[in-house]
Amino acid sequence: MSAPHRDGTAPHPVPVTVLAGPTAVGKGTVSAAIRARYPQIHVSVSATTRAPRPGEIDGVHYHFVSDEEFTRLVESGQMLEWAVVHGRNKYGTPRAAVEEAVTAGRPVLLEIDLAGARQVRESLPAARFVFLAPPDWDTLVDRLVGRGTEDEQERARRLETARVELAAEPEFDVTIVNDTVDRATDELARLMGVEPERS
Ligand code: 5GP
Repeated sequence: MSAPHRDGTAPHPVPVTVLAGPTAVGKGTVSAAIRARYPQIHVSVSATTRAPRPGEIDGVHYHFVSDEEFTRLVESGQMLEWAVVHGRNKYGTPRAAVEEAVTAGRPVLLEIDLAGARQVRESLPAARFVFLAPPDWDTLVDRLVGRGTEDEQERARRLETARVELAAEPEFDVTIVNDTVDRATDELARLMGVEPERS
């Protein structure tokens, strides 16, 4: 069963779902699982100024763009939202692909940071806002350190961001606990009106 809204109303399909939550909670893993297992759902491909990590493909995981190109996209109104994440790189949601998917009647998932989610709340108030939460703080810290892709200073910065982001949970319509990726993914898909298919 999907979690009820905080206001007690039953969930119903809405075109755009925003998935946010603290650093290292597994938003990227859950959105990748949605992309792999639920092709009916359009998962937005963000633009970013950060460099690709090994294995990341331009146009699939992100649109990797220069700072100049990012600024051009923002200034020409092509970003639905954008933010500087972890005080470093810019990330944003290209508006056109979201609008096309909505027009085609597909449910759309945006996996973005808290600042971006707040902008979408202003521009698309009908969107559903889902907070992906860790089972507990220690699990979040384990995941943050365990990933091992950031240096000490970067980890400390991400931990601080995570504390602030955890405190934002009450702003969201629904909380999904990322206890296991499969279960959290299925709960999110159901919330988006797509039933899991099991063989
Ligand atoms: P990473 O660099 O690890 O792929 O992502 C870092 C953070 O950027 C994640 O918290 C992710 O949610 C956020 N992010 C990814 N795409 C977007 C986007 O389009 N807009 C915003 N505001 N944040 C994003």
